Amino acid sequence: MTPFLFMSKQKLEILDYPRKALAALLTEQFEVEPFRANQLFPWIYRSRHLDFSQMTDISKSVREVFSENFNIYRPKRAQMLASKDGSYKFLWELDDSSNIESVLIKQSKRVTLCLSSQVGCAMRCAFCVTGTLGLKRDLQVHEIIGQVIAVRDAIAEHELEDFGNIVFMGMGEPLHNIDNVIAATEILNDEYGFNFSGRKITISTSGLVNGIRQLGQSKAKANLAISLNATTDEVRKSLMPVNKRYPLEVLMAELRRYPLKAHRRITFEYVLIKGVNDSRDDQKRLIKLLRGIPSKVNIIPYNPGVDLGYETPSREVIVQWQENLLGGGLNATIRWSKADDINGACGQLAAKHK
Ligand code: SAH
Ligand code: SF4
Repeated sequence: MTPFLFMSKQKLEILDYPRKALAALLTEQFEVEPFRANQLFPWIYRSRHLDFSQMTDISKSVREVFSENFNIYRPKRAQMLASKDGSYKFLWELDDSSNIESVLIKQSKRVTLCLSSQVGCAMRCAFCVTGTLGLKRDLQVHEIIGQVIAVRDAIAEHELEDFGNIVFMGMGEPLHNIDNVIAATEILNDEYGFNFSGRKITISTSGLVNGIRQLGQSKAKANLAISLNATTDEVRKSLMPVNKRYPLEVLMAELRRYPLKAHRRITFEYVLIKGVNDSRDDQKRLIKLLRGIPSKVNIIPYNPGVDLGYETPSREVIVQWQENLLGGGLNATIRWSKADDINGACGQLAAKHK
C-alpha cells in the first residue's frame, strides 16, 4: 500500500483567485455557477469570514463544495509591535515557517499599510536590510492578500484606525514576483471585495524594466514608484546591482513610455545617503533626469537600522534637497522615518529575530 492513499486532498486557497478566475474555476472544475464568486467575495474580503458554512445567502450544497475544496487562509500572527508614533509592525509566520512583515504606518492624515511581496529579496541593494537576506522565495497570492485581511482582523480586534492606502514597500521586489503581485492587486481593486482604487495602491520597484512594462499592460490598477536612489550609473550600480542590467537610460526611456492615466504621476523614491548621492550635482542631475515625466520625488533619509556602512545626511541637507528640487520645478516631499523604534520603517524589514 502506498502512503499516498492516506493523504487528505490538498485544498485550494481561495485567496489565490481574482474574482473572474475564481468564477471560471468554479464552473470548470466544480460545476458551480460563476455568480457564486460574486457572492463569496464580500463574505471573504469585507466581513472576513473564515467559515463557508456561515455564508447564508449561498445554498447549502454549494457551501459544502466550497468547504470540501477550499481553504480561507490567514498567516499566523507571530508578533504585533506598537510604535510610539501610532504605527504597528506585524510579524507573520507562514506555513513553511518563513517570516514576513507588514507595517501599518500612521501619518498625520492617513494610515498606510506596507506589504511584503517576497521572503527576502534577490536584488541585494547595498543600503537595504532585506537585500542582505537574499531571496528565499516568492509569496503566493494568498500570502500577500492574507497580510491585508489579517491586519484588518487586528484592526477590528484592537479598534485601531483603518488604513486607506496600500504600498508594496515591505520585504521583496514586487516586480520580481509580478504575476502574483498583479493578481493580488486585482483582488485589492475588486469592487466586490476591498474596493481599493488604483490611486490608493502603490507598487514600488528597484527598476525591473520588463516588469514595469508588464505592469503597465496589465489590468491591475496601482500607482508606480521607482526606487531611483542615484543620478549616475556609476553610483546607482554601486548601490543597486539591478542597474547593471537596466541602466538609467533604459529605465528612464521605459518610464517615458509608461501608460500613465491622466493627472497621475510616477513616484521616484530617493534614499538620501551622506556623501554617496546627496551632492548639489545630484540635485541638478535629478531635475534633468525627470524632465518631461509627470513625477513626484519622495526623499527618504537613509535609515541606519542595521550597520551597512552608510550614514544619514544632516537635517539641513535633507531640507535643502527638498527646497532645491521644488525650486527646480519638481514635486518633492520628505518621508521622515516612521516606526523606527520597532524597526518597522517601510523598506527596512528583515526578520531580526532570525
Ligand atoms: N523592492 C522594492 C520595494 C521595497 S523597498 C523597491 O526597492 O522599491 C521600499 C523602499 O525602501 C525603497 O524605495 C528602498 O529604496 C527603501 N529603502 C531600503 N532600505 C532603506 C534604508 N536603509 N533607508 C531608507 N530607505 C530604504
Ligand atoms: Fe530588494 Fe527593494 Fe531592498 Fe533593493 S531596496 S534589496 S529591491 S527590497
